[in-house]
Amino acid sequence: MSVVIQKVSVHGGHSGQFCHHAKDSLDAVIQAYIAAGFAWIGITEHMPPLDDAMRYPDEAENGITSLTLQTQFLSYFSECRNLQQRYAGQIKIFTAFETETYPGISPFIQQLLRQTKPDYIVGSVHHVAGIGIDVNAELYRQAVLRCGGLEQLYCDYFDAQLGMLNDLEPAVVGHFDLIRIFDSNFLQTLQRPAVWSRVERNLERIAGLDLILDFNLRGFDKTQEQYPSMPVLKKALELGIAIVPGDDSHGVSSVGRNYERGVALLAELGHSCQWQLPRLYRWPD
Ligand SMILES: [Zn+2]
Ligand SMILES: [Zn+2]
Repeated sequence: MSVVIQKVSVHGGHSGQFCHHAKDSLDAVIQAYIAAGFAWIGITEHMPPLDDAMRYPDEAENGITSLTLQTQFLSYFSECRNLQQRYAGQIKIFTAFETETYPGISPFIQQLLRQTKPDYIVGSVHHVAGIGIDVNAELYRQAVLRCGGLEQLYCDYFDAQLGMLNDLEPAVVGHFDLIRIFDSNFLQTLQRPAVWSRVERNLERIAGLDLILDFNLRGFDKTQEQYPSMPVLKKALELGIAIVPGDDSHGVSSVGRNYERGVALLAELGHSCQWQLPRLYRWPD
């Protein structure tokens, strides 16, 4: 008897309609998921920046204000809710968002939660020492300098992640070890005792809170390996953490990308490939 492996994505659906570094309309992205045979997807657009200083460089260069991005984020929610209903017979859609993590953002996230009532959130860290670490190698290098070294950059990243986990208890933890994105020796850096102890500490917290770890397929394109990387993934499986694929799509062309490759890898590691659903918020009416 063969077991059916469902196609799902717990993190993805960024679209050019609502995200400056993505492509295509949200409707087109969702239609691509339907065409690819996905059973359920979480649409997890980026939250807007707290202020102009925290915009992504491409937004700043194009003169898009934080206020514009905040307004656009509310439009994202109404559009995604519409599409959720329109396609209800064809695919199960969750309307969610992906967080940022940097000092001062917590009250803003709480405000957005009350305002938008998402189905769930993906808790992500893209900034260390006030610098976007996944934007390009040069900014990554600046973040290393500001932290006083590569090991400290990793430590600060994982400390920020722990703070976020405690603060938000997000249903899904996004690209757990994104911090290795521009480090070609990441396997060695992860092994350093100060770093690995933080990895284990955060994974134990994730296990304790019963959160889902985003098995982020975009890592294959960015770093030749999924997030989390193999040693972290094995530790997470050992701790019994729920691991669910997220294609982190940023347009039609990245819908479902690397899916078969990712699932084969998980199956090889003994994962059942029966995906846990994210724990949904229950908002009062
Ligand atoms: Zn993005
Ligand atoms: Zn992200």
